[in-house]
Amino acid sequence: MSLIAYQKKREFSRTSEPSGEIKKTNLFRFVVQKHQARNLHYDFRLEMEGVLKSWAVPKGVPEERGIKRLAVQVEDHPVDYINFSGVISKGEYGAGTVEVWDKGKWKIIEGSLGSGSLKFNLAGKKLKGEYVLVRFKEKKNWLIYKTKI
Ligand code: MN
Repeated sequence: MSLIAYQKKREFSRTSEPSGEIKKTNLFRFVVQKHQARNLHYDFRLEMEGVLKSWAVPKGVPEERGIKRLAVQVEDHPVDYINFSGVISKGEYGAGTVEVWDKGKWKIIEGSLGSGSLKFNLAGKKLKGEYVLVRFKEKKNWLIYKTKI
């Protein structure tokens, strides 16, 4: 796990985003941040191994079964990012507004990110139930969908 890619993209004197550090908490939190950047998207983040594994989901994580959404994996974010909301200034990486759309706890059911298939449970306010993340051959592209209530 590394935050180098995250830190390289940002100038922390000019953004209120946390510079962050790797922090192992075993809290198994997740967050979805609605990010109104140049293009609106939703950032889905799972707390794992001291960082937030992160995906940009252009159409959002589905609340219902039967909908599959593209999730593009992005750089690991620091766990402190889980509480971040606010405005990223014009000209900075990811410029726009970030708001927490949902958050809660997650629990692994089976699989792993390394194997390209992870089944897990989400217990948030909007997102609840069993979900799957499955990786395409192109390594950054995943599908996320709900399998059970
Ligand atoms: Mn984003």
